[in-house]
Amino acid sequence: MRPLQATIDTAALRHNLALVRTKAADSKVLSVIKANGYGHGMLRVARALSDSDGFAVLRVEEGVALRQAGFRQLILLLEGLFGEDELPVASAHALAVVVHCEEQLAMLEAARGKYPLDVFLKINTGMNRLGISPDRFRTVYDRLEAVQGVRHVTLMTHFATADGPQGVAEQLACFNALTQGIHRPKSLANSAALLRFPETHEDWVRPGIMLYGASPFEDETAWSLGLKPAMTLSSAIIAEQWINAGARVGYGGSFRAEQPMRIGVVSCGYADGYPRHAPTGTPVAVAGKLTRTLGRVSMDMLCVDLSSIPEAHIGSPVELWGAQVPVDAVAHAAGTVGYELLCRVAARVPMVEC
Ligand SMILES: *Cc1c(COP(=O)(O)O)cnc(C)c1O
Repeated sequence: MRPLQATIDTAALRHNLALVRTKAADSKVLSVIKANGYGHGMLRVARALSDSDGFAVLRVEEGVALRQAGFRQLILLLEGLFGEDELPVASAHALAVVVHCEEQLAMLEAARGKYPLDVFLKINTGMNRLGISPDRFRTVYDRLEAVQGVRHVTLMTHFATADGPQGVAEQLACFNALTQGIHRPKSLANSAALLRFPETHEDWVRPGIMLYGASPFEDETAWSLGLKPAMTLSSAIIAEQWINAGARVGYGGSFRAEQPMRIGVVSCGYADGYPRHAPTGTPVAVAGKLTRTLGRVSMDMLCVDLSSIPEAHIGSPVELWGAQVPVDAVAHAAGTVGYELLCRVAARVPMVEC
C-alpha cells in the first residue's frame, strides 16, 4: 500500500480544547468545524470535541449530519441560510443561523413564525465581508426582535486583524458602542482574539485553527502557544538517487547540486494537497531528522535531501508535517497559511485516527 497517510490525534484535539477552556474560562466554546473539521474529518473532530458547548459549520447538510450523529449542543450555520428552502430544514434540526444581511432577515419575517430558530446577528464592524453595517444595526436588531419564531438572539462580529499588529481595538470599540445596553449574549473571538485579547471573550468564543494545533499568528508558533498538532501527514522514501555535482532535480531542474549528494523520493505530491509552491528548502523530516525538500513538487512525489541522513533508505518514514515539522512552517515556505494546507489534504489520502 502507498505509505502516505494523514493521522489524526484525537488526544491532541482534546488537549487544544482544554487549552481554550483555560484561556477563556468564563466563555462557552463554539468549536469551529467547518471545511470538514479543517480537513481532519468533521464527525471525527466533533466526537473528539464532544465536550464543546457548540459547533459551527458552513452548510445546513453539515448541521443535519451532526444532529443525526446525536450531537445535542448548539450548532451554528456560520453564513446562515443560503435560500429559503433551507429554513424548514434548519428549524427542524434546531440549527442556529447567522443573519448577516437584510435579505436573510426578510426571509425570517416572511416565514411568520412557522420555522422557529435561534439567530446570531452578525455586525460588520470593519472587516467588510459579512454583516449588518453599523448605521443599519439598530433598525435591523429591532426588526429581528419583532420577528415571530426568532427565539434566542446572540450578537456577533468577526475580526479582520486579530492576528496582526492592528489588533482588534477599532472593531471592538465599534461593536461595544453599538451593542451597549442590549442585554444579549455576544460572540466575537476567533482563535487569534481568544489568545491575545481576553476583552473579546464575552459569552461565546469561536476557536477554529487553534483546536487543530496550528497557530493563527505569523509571529508565534503553535508550540510556543502550548498547542499540539492534531494532524500528521506522513509517508516514506520510495526511491533514492546519487547525483553528481551540477546535476538537477525534478521538473524544470530548479535545484542544482553543488556537490555529489544523495536524494530521496517521497510518495507525496501536490495531488495529495502538499503545496506545489513549496520551494527548495521547505522543512521535512526523514527518519526523525529534519532536512529540506529539493526542486519542484510533482503531482505524486517530491524530493528530499538525504546528505545529512546516511541511515535513511527506501522505506524510511517521512513527516511532511506534524509534531516535528509544523504545518505552519511548510505553509510559510509555500507562501500560505496552515489553515489552507490542513483543509486541502486530498480525498485520496487515507486518514486514520490515533
Ligand atoms: C472560521 C471562523 C472562525 C474560526 O477562525 P480561526 O481563525 O480558525 O480561529 C471564527 N468565526 C467565524 C465567523 C469563522 O468563519
